[in-house]
Amino acid sequence: MAEPLSWSYSKSALFRDCPKAFSFEEQGVYPVTGHSPSVSLASIVGVSVHHSIKQEIDHWSRGERLELARAEAAAEAFIREVWADAPSRICEARNGASLASVSPERFIRLSRSRVRDFVRLIWPRFRNHTYLLHEEDRMFTIGDVVVWTRVDLCTRDADGQIVITDWKTGRIGPEEVEGMQLGVYVDWARNEFHVPTGQVRGQIVSLRTLEFLPRFVSDAELTRLRGRITRQVQDWGKRFETHNFPAAPSPTKCVSCRFFQWCDEGRAAVDARSLSGLAEMLD
Ligand code: SF4
Repeated sequence: MAEPLSWSYSKSALFRDCPKAFSFEEQGVYPVTGHSPSVSLASIVGVSVHHSIKQEIDHWSRGERLELARAEAAAEAFIREVWADAPSRICEARNGASLASVSPERFIRLSRSRVRDFVRLIWPRFRNHTYLLHEEDRMFTIGDVVVWTRVDLCTRDADGQIVITDWKTGRIGPEEVEGMQLGVYVDWARNEFHVPTGQVRGQIVSLRTLEFLPRFVSDAELTRLRGRITRQVQDWGKRFETHNFPAAPSPTKCVSCRFFQWCDEGRAAVDARSLSGLAEMLD
């Protein structure tokens, strides 16, 4: 396998979560299921909300208004579509877990509620923003490392500052606010729009608590961040040479892992209770 020379936040997060899952991903070990990727139960609300918000911002980018009823319907339709094809679209079901004790209605209620809050309470704060882009794969380079980004939303505010917004549907820890993701997005925006660092602001918007958490990045911090990314990609390259990607199993993680069927450590970690007790694990 060729040495990986590209970096993205999602790659880095997967490596942090489980190095073995990262190596599976990099090697392309993933079943071809036709057209639609599978989602885990833990992420289904977040994915459905992102899907709905993306569609609404598609409309906004064309000069149209957001519509609450359409946004809620899209979030619900996403979950119902996934649920109707659970054996191939829901990771836990594909890994052999029973969904008998889990109802899609709880996920749909939560998803509609998050979308409602987004349209009514969060979106008005973007009233004076100008659209730049959303949900597009973009890249820039750090030395010979290609860095891929896909920002949820990029706008220009009334003061002319470029704002990178990342929607979060789950709990937000310090890593989300202070970690690499927003810093890399700010670095990308500097490159993309040819502006100084101080003219770009990152922010996390919690769809759970409705908080706006800003992130200002200095040039010195970006220099340190680029060093971390370069070292991380070099480390990945060395690990591929030595096949050094240890598994980091846990029942809740492995039962929803896309690589479960290829992973001995994951299958050993998931017992019969994990496969039949999904409802308790999700509570
Ligand atoms: S099944 Fe578990 S240990 Fe195996 S790759 Fe997935 S998360 Fe890692």
